[in-house]
Amino acid sequence: MSAQIIDGKAFAAKVRSQVGEHVAVLKDKHGITPGLAVVLVGEDPASQVYVRSKGKMTVEVGMKSVEHKLDVETSEADLLALIDQLNNDASIHGILVQLPLPGHLDEDLVINSINPAKDVDGFHISNVGLLGTGQKSMVPCTPLGCLMMLREHHGSLSGLDAVVIGRSNIVGKPMAQLLLGDSCTVTIAHSRTKDLPDVVRRADIVVAAVGRPEMVPGDWIKKGATVIDVGINRIERDGKNKLVGDVDFASCADVAGAITPVPGGVGPMTIACLLANTVTACCRANGLPEPEGLTA
Ligand code: NAP
Repeated sequence: MSAQIIDGKAFAAKVRSQVGEHVAVLKDKHGITPGLAVVLVGEDPASQVYVRSKGKMTVEVGMKSVEHKLDVETSEADLLALIDQLNNDASIHGILVQLPLPGHLDEDLVINSINPAKDVDGFHISNVGLLGTGQKSMVPCTPLGCLMMLREHHGSLSGLDAVVIGRSNIVGKPMAQLLLGDSCTVTIAHSRTKDLPDVVRRADIVVAAVGRPEMVPGDWIKKGATVIDVGINRIERDGKNKLVGDVDFASCADVAGAITPVPGGVGPMTIACLLANTVTACCRANGLPEPEGLTA
């Protein structure tokens, strides 16, 4: 293995500690405690785990954490009424509705009912539009975490060729916008892309957000490229459950200049960026300068 490992776990700890410092200043100097509300509908086990660790880390950085756990049969009207209440609650600066929602609830309608200034997931159509036009927005947490790691590793990303594999609204598309914002030449690949290996071989930066275990082999990677693996795939190997990414770590690490592992790469950055977004939202809501380095 020749690649440098980009340690997302350590980076996320650093981001959380920066967030904690800003929270302390907000409390001591301004008497403001940033508040994050997380809404979970139903009992999806993976979502329950995410919500628990979000709540725990929110409290650890000194912020107020509110969890609303709603029955799986909650009506759309009741969910929208709760969001309206949170939109109007001055002690709440960030609202996150855990996805996926049960099938009877319209995700787009629910997300677009959140006050965009409190939309710390960055999924509201206004934030998508602001990001796409290069204006100040709330930036989706997972791509923001990837951007932070890339900036830390490369310094400037200007002029680099970036290939994002995957075009989802939560990862691929916002990732591409952020890379474009940092002046990369960006290609977005997806399931219909022709000659995907050749497309990926051109890239100085590869971001894989596909959801297919170990799909990208080392011989698709240009020597020295930076590989950011967003994938979280649970597989069974040698009779054991294992988490793997969308890239084949061993073969890619032989060719890449730097690579994120799974677990311990992009994953921990996502919650750290959620906390960062909540502090940013709190500062904006109170007309205070935003913390540096915690947003795009
Ligand atoms: P998604 O909504 O399912 O999107 C997957 C994308 O991959 C689609 O655009 C799809 O193309 C493309 N794709 C599928 N098969 C392909 C192939 N053979 N070749 C090229 N492209 C292909 O997934 P997502 O929500 O973006 O998540 C992607 C992965 O990231 C998952 O493993 C997920 O668990 C993980 N994830 C991790 C975090 C984190 O915190 N680390 C956060 C979010 C997601 P089409 O559009 O053409 O179908």
